[in-house]
Amino acid sequence: MTTKAWCALVAAVMISVVFIHSCSGDRDLAAPALIEADDITPHIAELSSDSYFGRMPFGPGDQKTVDYLVDACQKMGLQPGNGDSYTQSVPMIEITSTPTSDMEIVTPAGTETYEFGSDYVIHCQKAVDEVQIEDAQLVFCGYGIVDDKIKWNDYGDIDMRDKIAVVLVNDPGYGGEDSTFFKGDIMTYYGRWTYKYEEADRQGAKGLLIIHETSSAGYPWFVVESSWTGAQLGLEKESVQNGADIKGWMHLDMAKDLFAKSNLDLSQLIKEAREPGFEPVLMDATVTTSLSNSYKRDESDNVIAVLPGKTNPSEYILYSAHWDHIGIGKLVDGDSIYNGALDNASGTSSLLAIAENFIEQGSNADRSIAFVWVTAEEQGLLGSEYYALHPTIPINDIVANINIDGCNPNGPMKDFQIVGIGHSEMDDIATEELAKQDRYVLPDQEPEKGYFFRSDHFNFAKVGIPALFGEGGYDHVEYGKEYGKKKKEKYTAQNYHAPSDEYDPEAWDMGGVIQDAQLYYNVGWRLANSQEWPQWKPTSEFRRQNTLKD
Ligand SMILES: [Zn+2]
Repeated sequence: MTTKAWCALVAAVMISVVFIHSCSGDRDLAAPALIEADDITPHIAELSSDSYFGRMPFGPGDQKTVDYLVDACQKMGLQPGNGDSYTQSVPMIEITSTPTSDMEIVTPAGTETYEFGSDYVIHCQKAVDEVQIEDAQLVFCGYGIVDDKIKWNDYGDIDMRDKIAVVLVNDPGYGGEDSTFFKGDIMTYYGRWTYKYEEADRQGAKGLLIIHETSSAGYPWFVVESSWTGAQLGLEKESVQNGADIKGWMHLDMAKDLFAKSNLDLSQLIKEAREPGFEPVLMDATVTTSLSNSYKRDESDNVIAVLPGKTNPSEYILYSAHWDHIGIGKLVDGDSIYNGALDNASGTSSLLAIAENFIEQGSNADRSIAFVWVTAEEQGLLGSEYYALHPTIPINDIVANINIDGCNPNGPMKDFQIVGIGHSEMDDIATEELAKQDRYVLPDQEPEKGYFFRSDHFNFAKVGIPALFGEGGYDHVEYGKEYGKKKKEKYTAQNYHAPSDEYDPEAWDMGGVIQDAQLYYNVGWRLANSQEWPQWKPTSEFRRQNTLKD
């Protein structure tokens, strides 16, 4: 970190100390503890080192990571959060699909062979030994959305049992003029691949292929390739027995080639798919391909620890961060360990620092604080989904969730981005706490990428817990907005889900990491010492399921 950055940080911290000191007269509410780089950095360096092998659940770094976190919780003096245990077993099935042939597609133009990896990726989410797809017809199903509530049906009446759906990524509102139509550029849940997978299963389709497009997906093809090759984890659900045989993605170039050879105009079809009343198109194309599948059932762990409240111990502030990453994968520049330093050793470590600072505060807060390090986020938010389905604390006793997934390594910022802003009063609380840090709120900068659905707070929001999920900032205290933006873009293009997401003491400016950890701490500290129950905004699609605390 530069000296100037340090000065700016110290100045920001001073402002917050002065402010908090001046308004803390009504009770013995000491100023929140001050988080320091040394509280966080050693954990990041450790958890993102090669000896954790990229922290893949079931992988060689799984138990080691869980042990590290449990040990840290014990040493700090946090209490076990699951009965007398610090861990919660999350039963999962790990499936590795290996292509046994390329993909052959017969169109009026002849037979074309497409190559696994560069043209498409497919996998099977079922507990079967092999999958044979023979001459299955492709159907273009628009955005793959079916919902009576919004009178939308991209699958029409087609019996999909022996057919493969080809769908677009994102939703029909993306790129349009009307901000009320599928929320315009803001990605709705219908735009997420998870939704499209779920819908294909509901439709009984034999398979699903999503056409990748970088701006609509929010990430380049290599992320698809690295995320969807190799072992995939899932919770034990219905679809493990009855879901589609193949699911996956095709490269935009493959889609263009395939549609042209099938005598279809892809860009025209995309236009039509954005209009109400779109009808699926049976393509003059049949696909043949095969996979061999190996699967095993195993368990990974959520780590849960609690700091009991002094006066209202049955009410909880729930902090979360996923400890897992994507393990070992394709070799890039001589490196195959996907260390996930930013994603999410940084959040995991920030949570340890926040817990430690709550303890060093000396006197516990009024409400209890729960810290949950969830597993298998990268595989579809599985650990948090399991936790939300099997909570160790009654869901309605959880006041709020603060989720950390990736910290800002680019130095202290004047702003802070709230992802999916507008859902709940958590945003207002964060805004007030940011003002105390002399920072301003930046609305979601990339609402089209659907980040609100892409980390663990989404599973907590689904069951009604208001959540705060932020993403550092762009407006660097010293170097301004362009600097922050360039740094973020560089990370997304080069390091996100790549072996180069590594901890580099030279390149990382911890000023931003501390600043954000302090914010999360302050928001939690404030809620933990109040009677506040942050509410959902009326426009949000999320609500408390039990209206008692609404
Ligand atoms: Zn992450």
